[in-house]
Amino acid sequence: MAFETREQVLEKVIAKEKPDCPHCGETMSLWEVPLMTMDDGLGWGTPYLYVCFNDECTLYESGWKNIEENYGRRASYRCMCYPESGAYECMPVWGPQGGQGQIIDDEVIRKQKLQDEKTEKGLAVLAECLVSEDKVTVQRILLDPAEPPRVRLKAAEVMGDVGDTVSIDALKENKYGNDILRKGVEEAINKIHERHYTRECPFCAEIVKKRANVCKHCGKEVAGE
Ligand SMILES: [Zn+2]
Ligand SMILES: [Zn+2]
Repeated sequence: MAFETREQVLEKVIAKEKPDCPHCGETMSLWEVPLMTMDDGLGWGTPYLYVCFNDECTLYESGWKNIEENYGRRASYRCMCYPESGAYECMPVWGPQGGQGQIIDDEVIRKQKLQDEKTEKGLAVLAECLVSEDKVTVQRILLDPAEPPRVRLKAAEVMGDVGDTVSIDALKENKYGNDILRKGVEEAINKIHERHYTRECPFCAEIVKKRANVCKHCGKEVAGE
C-alpha cells in the first residue's frame, strides 16, 4: 500500500530529533524529496531527508565558488542527511530558493500529529464497534471522507464482519477516492453476501438468495448454486 508506506515513513521521521548541520550547526529542516526526482531514478531512495537551508552555511557559501571554479556553472550544495542512517551528503542546488518548497515545516508536522491521533482514536472506536456489532457507526466512519485513510480501510474490513445486506446499496453508491479503499469495500460487500447467503442478481443488481432460481425483483431466471 504505497500511500501508507510514505505515511508510515513520515511518522517515523517526525518522531526523531532533527539533526544539526555538521558545517554550520543549524538545525536541519525535514525535506520531502520531490516525486518527480524519484520517478527519474535520480532519487535518494527515501521519501524524506534532512537538509540545511541556512544561507550562511559554510558548505553552501563556499559551494558557489567551488562549482564556479571547477565546472564554470552557477550552482552550490546544501548539506543533507539521511534519516535512516544519519549519513551526511551534498545535494546540488541551482539557487537560494532551490528545494525550499519541499520543506516540511512545523505546521505540517503538527497537522500530521493530529492526523495520527485521529487515526489512533478511529481504530479504537472500530475495535469497539466490532465487539458490539455497531454497524451504524462503522458505516458512518467508512463513508466519511474526513476520516484518515487508514481508519476508513479498517472500517471497510469491520463492515465485512458486522454489516448486513441493507448497507450494501449505500456502500456501492458512495464514491471512493482511492483504489485501495474501493477494493476494501468490494471485499466487505462480498463478505456480507457470504455471511447472509445472498448474492447480486446479474440482471437487476438487486440482492437475491444464493440458492434462488428466479429473481424476486426482476423475475429473470438466476440459476441457484
Ligand atoms: Zn549548514
Ligand atoms: Zn433481478
